[in-house]
Amino acid sequence: MSTDSDAETVDLADGVDHQVAMVMDLNKCIGCQTCTVACKSLWTEGGGRDYMYWNNVETKPGKGYPRNWEESGGGWKSSEHKERKPGQIPDKEDYGDAWEFNHEEIMYNGSDRPLRPDSDPEWGPNWDEDQGTGEYPNSYYFYLPRICNHCTHPSCVEACPRKAIYKREEDGIVLIDQERCRGYRYCVEGCPYKKVYYNATQKTSEKCIFCYPRIEGEGPDGKTFAPACAEDCPPQLRLVGFLDDEQGPIHKLVEEYEVALPLHPEYQTQPNVYYIPPFAPPQHSEDGESVDVDRIPRNYLEELFGERVHDALDTIEREREKVNRGGGSELLDMLTDTNPARKFRLEVFDDD
Ligand code: SF4
Ligand code: SF4
Repeated sequence: MSTDSDAETVDLADGVDHQVAMVMDLNKCIGCQTCTVACKSLWTEGGGRDYMYWNNVETKPGKGYPRNWEESGGGWKSSEHKERKPGQIPDKEDYGDAWEFNHEEIMYNGSDRPLRPDSDPEWGPNWDEDQGTGEYPNSYYFYLPRICNHCTHPSCVEACPRKAIYKREEDGIVLIDQERCRGYRYCVEGCPYKKVYYNATQKTSEKCIFCYPRIEGEGPDGKTFAPACAEDCPPQLRLVGFLDDEQGPIHKLVEEYEVALPLHPEYQTQPNVYYIPPFAPPQHSEDGESVDVDRIPRNYLEELFGERVHDALDTIEREREKVNRGGGSELLDMLTDTNPARKFRLEVFDDD
């Protein structure tokens, strides 16, 4: 279904009035994990949630969190969204346990041993952080922050036999009704991004809620805030708003300039988290000269963001050249804007 105002371009889910969305500019992510900590301390600190990172930031190329999630199936077989692809539930070890450390021994018992986990872990979130790939001086990596994509065609919703997962009418946020959920984990299997987590203490599944109490203005002073991962990001690389807000930067970046792309579009869930793909310096020859080859291979970016990544990177490059020649660029102005009121446009449909 499309909006009345923009029937050509904006594809909203049936029964959804507006769709919240986020754009992340991967060229600015420094892998500091402030977003991860902001989310964790707000929503998943304990009670069976120790291993959960509703927001995680992984190094690409890499196996990610949970390990090898990109090979775990799920999503849809085609863009008709009639048949789901079978998926797998990751093992506990693929997420990595919440490790206990020998704090007691070091802090109170006078030991001079180094601080280390009590167990002998073999995998965990960010196990392969900053490893990347390639040969020096042309090795490369970049950071990929991930949350639930609040997809337009969420295969997690379709997978749930109890209809416990639903897409909110007013903004398209995907939520799990904790009263209805019985913890069957079909949603974990069905999400190709592995962004639903099973809480073995509560015996229900849980996931990113796009900080809906913050965007509804339920803070102590009734103010509206963007999701904590976006507000707290030091380089402010996340834009938050509505896909169908035609005056907002998200609509322009996704629908008009087509430089903000969904991750793994071939999973066919139509994510509403979009990424400005990373560009990189050219490769160096053995004698240190620049050669006209991208440091991050385009075919790897195509694996992540689909074939539209080539046009997206070419568009950004053209706009950069325009600015270098002294011209103006609405696109680069949006990507470098630091004004919170323009970066976080969450009140535009309040009068609906
Ligand atoms: S990312 Fe996964 S959990 Fe989130 S809406 Fe899409 S299919 Fe569902
Ligand atoms: S807070 Fe921002 S810069 Fe830091 S890891 Fe998260 S997205 Fe990247």
